Amino acid sequence: MRKGVSIPMLDFYMPVKVVSGKGAVVKNAALLRELGRRCLIVTGGSSARLSGALDDAKTALEQEGVAFEVFDKIGPNPLLSACREAGEAARGCGAEFILGIGGGSPLDAAKAVAIYAANEDLAPADIYKRVYNNKPLPLALIGTTAGTGSEVTAVSVLTDDATGRKKSISGPDCYAALALADAKYTRTMPYDVTVSTALDAFSHIAEAWFTPNCRGITTVLAREGLRLLWPAMKRLLEEKTLPDEPGRDRLYFGSLYAGLVINTCGTGFPHPLGYVLTENYGVPHGKACAAFLPAYLERAKKHEPRLLEEFLGVLGEEYAAVAAAVNALTALPRVGMTPEQAAGFAARWQKEPPKNFATSPGGLTALEAADILAGI
Ligand code: NAP
Ligand code: FE
Repeated sequence: MRKGVSIPMLDFYMPVKVVSGKGAVVKNAALLRELGRRCLIVTGGSSARLSGALDDAKTALEQEGVAFEVFDKIGPNPLLSACREAGEAARGCGAEFILGIGGGSPLDAAKAVAIYAANEDLAPADIYKRVYNNKPLPLALIGTTAGTGSEVTAVSVLTDDATGRKKSISGPDCYAALALADAKYTRTMPYDVTVSTALDAFSHIAEAWFTPNCRGITTVLAREGLRLLWPAMKRLLEEKTLPDEPGRDRLYFGSLYAGLVINTCGTGFPHPLGYVLTENYGVPHGKACAAFLPAYLERAKKHEPRLLEEFLGVLGEEYAAVAAAVNALTALPRVGMTPEQAAGFAARWQKEPPKNFATSPGGLTALEAADILAGI
């Protein structure tokens, strides 16, 4: 039984207005107009166009007489410098709100752009200090991947140009005002991006499941997320082809449920360890985190066996089958860090261990993290 389950509780905060379904962007154009008369669209190089999301957004904005400019220079693992440049562009065109379109990278960037746009004097890395004078501009988000759930989270993961490291900011001011959620934009994702982003969403719930805050309504969201994600992921593995439309819907809405779960629980150690693989070995975010999921579940087996049993019960799987499926989807060749390299990467956690080390099953020290890294 979950800790504290005998005491009824309902702790939940979710200020994002999520409007979902086919044609959600154009049908709900008026909601964009409520955010302002001018906006800056923040996106990546190609996916917003390819997916049709940019065209739909333009139609919606034109329909409502909202003026816009497009900033399309956000790359994967968005850099502070690109977000600050977009902030300047937003001020330059008098944007009253920011519209982020894309995967987790452009959506996370849009959260930072909204902050920089309203705070001209904020130096790039000072965004991590979370101290600034003006409220961020309002934000609307349209997702094109089915992984991060950034549409509904209060998190933005940004790469510091100076160090090359990924670091997140979070808090109520990172929530969007509006998320327009239409799974059709995810249909253009190639197989590999589909798999990696699905692994990210699954990791969010699998990691959160064993943290102390996974109680009450959050377990309901977690169960629904797993119910949506897992069968679609098994099909990705078995059939090795792109999902059909219902499969895309499952993955996309599963990723939003997973986002709601990490809002309350945070993630476990696979996420900070995954950053090392992304920063230094170019492994995409979802696969980078999922690479550590089997080690995480091993610790859950030892320290939280009842929670693991419940988790496997929701999936309807044996432990070995889940670990094998995650490994097969991740398909990461052996990285083979030397113990010295692993210790070097783990040194960042010596002084300041991330919060999600403490909330992982059994906790995790920087030394243990180095051992896990060296085994990858
Ligand atoms: P992403 O970095 O946004 O996109 C990966 C690639 O997929 C890019 O090349 C992108 O193209 C392309 N792409 C996106 N949508 C597509 C579509 N519909 N069709 C074809 N190609 C498409 O990937 P992501 O996994 O969604 O986001 C990862 C980032 O989110 C990481 O920085 C991670 O740390 C962060 N993250 C945030 C949260 C949160 O709560 N905020 C949670 C987990 C992870 P373009 O370059 O053209 O965009
Ligand atoms: Fe993630």
